[in-house]
Amino acid sequence: MRSRQREHPGLEEGPMRPDTIQELVRGDVITPEAPDYDAARAVFNGMIDRRPSAVVRAVDAADVMAVVSFAADEGLPLAVRGGGHSVPGYGVCDDGLVLDLSAIRNVRVDPQERTVRVGGGAVLADQDHATHAYGLATPAGFFSTTGVAGLTLGGGISAYLGREHGMTCDNLLSADVVTARGERVTARADQHPDLFWALRGGGGNFGVVTALEFRLHPVSTLVAGPMLFAPEGTADVISFYDRYMQEAPRPLGGFLAIDRAPPLPFIPEDRHGEPVCIVVASWNGDPSHADRILNPIRSSGPLVAEHVEEIPYPALQTAFDDLLPSGTRQYWKSDWVDEISPEDAVVYADHGTKVPNALSTTHLYPVNGAVHDVAEDATAFAVRDARFSAVIVGGWEDPADDEEHVAWVRDYYEAIHARSGHAGGYTNFAAADDEARVRDNFGPAYTRLAEIKARWDPDNLFRRNQNVKPAE
Ligand SMILES: Cc1cc2nc3c(=O)[nH]c(=O)nc-3n(C[C@H](O)[C@H](O)[C@H](O)COP(=O)(O)OP(=O)(O)OC[C@H]3O[C@@H](n4cnc5c(N)ncnc54)[C@H](O)[C@@H]3O)c2cc1C
Repeated sequence: MRSRQREHPGLEEGPMRPDTIQELVRGDVITPEAPDYDAARAVFNGMIDRRPSAVVRAVDAADVMAVVSFAADEGLPLAVRGGGHSVPGYGVCDDGLVLDLSAIRNVRVDPQERTVRVGGGAVLADQDHATHAYGLATPAGFFSTTGVAGLTLGGGISAYLGREHGMTCDNLLSADVVTARGERVTARADQHPDLFWALRGGGGNFGVVTALEFRLHPVSTLVAGPMLFAPEGTADVISFYDRYMQEAPRPLGGFLAIDRAPPLPFIPEDRHGEPVCIVVASWNGDPSHADRILNPIRSSGPLVAEHVEEIPYPALQTAFDDLLPSGTRQYWKSDWVDEISPEDAVVYADHGTKVPNALSTTHLYPVNGAVHDVAEDATAFAVRDARFSAVIVGGWEDPADDEEHVAWVRDYYEAIHARSGHAGGYTNFAAADDEARVRDNFGPAYTRLAEIKARWDPDNLFRRNQNVKPAE
């Protein structure tokens, strides 16, 4: 084990002081006295209120190596933050250090090789903007402020491109990682293959990713947008959607939502604020075929409004950003879901249409097509047979309403979980109180992940995550 005292003379004075860590890094060190401390410790979920000793805004891999070594040697809690979207608030900790990667977000596209290299703190908007210039994209989430690394490490569901091009992690070609020993390695298929396997679904358990390289696909302008149905049609639309998305051509993406209709001009005013079932569809094929593909969805229930148009991919990727503002209170539950029977659809409709406000929602993301082409043991993301990822999102503003909103999510979840066909849910949608479910969430990958964890992080330095315990 390396000695911090030997490498960093002058640090043997006991508990961490901010000037100590500042001497080791080029990035800012933000401590509780700093005017921007509250902004620096805030994450997407406004319910999270943790007070680290310092937030270190690393500017490069050398900063990351210094912070990781320092935290390991000092025995300090360490939280690693990319986009800060983790709903349980894994990107911040009490006491200890937050390693904030948001300054490492450079993106470099190689249009000849059809690859992109992104910094470990980049968000989806950074990547989509850069790749769109070449008419290319890689599948990822549909909210532009989500961190690329956090999303990829958990698997990465792409509502719009996943059926055609797989999970985000299926498109990962290599990753630069700072390990628990403070060393930087590159993991790819032919270099540290165990680590590369674990990074594709095993979460932030194995090190700090400072750069990721992805395969790109031709994606430029899609035909996409929402179709809104009256709430009484919800169960029928869900049943139809389940069947249709099993057979539909792979360039058809999107998701199904149960929401309260936002006050947008294309929606009749008497629907504003009322429950609606929404199919957001995206067609990445020949635009002249779009109606043929989308018309059966339009006919699946009482359509009350739609806004389907040709839209550049980055615009589609930002279309829903304003509906769920950062800083609102969040409580989520999720499941992997097999076939949805007509009875199951009624359960979704009953609970879903009681959606309490405009910040809450149910989403069903299709995860078949190219996602199912990959073998269960090919990556640590091992759920290769589910039809949907279901997530129930509770969002609200007033802490006085916590109980009511958490209860809506929990009751709903209890009602659908027994019907889902899977014990676990998607690790990236896990709730703060899902600790007992971690093994189920990783499913058949857990045992091998624990062995790889023992090799790369035997002291469990990286534990602010869906935590894989090192194998004995
Ligand atoms: C509004 C919203 C929309 C979402 N949409 C989708 C979606 O469409 N598809 C989908 O799959 N998921 C989606 N998610 C879930 C999202 O993938 C997870 O919350 C993910 O963990 C976010 O990563 P982050 O970097 O933004 O979060 P953070 O809170 O910064 O990090 C999350 C976890 O990843 C680790 N981590 C982050 N960056 C690194 C890094 N560079 N190296 C090592 N570890 C790191 C952190 O330590 C932490 O454990 C969404 C979440 C929100 C809040």
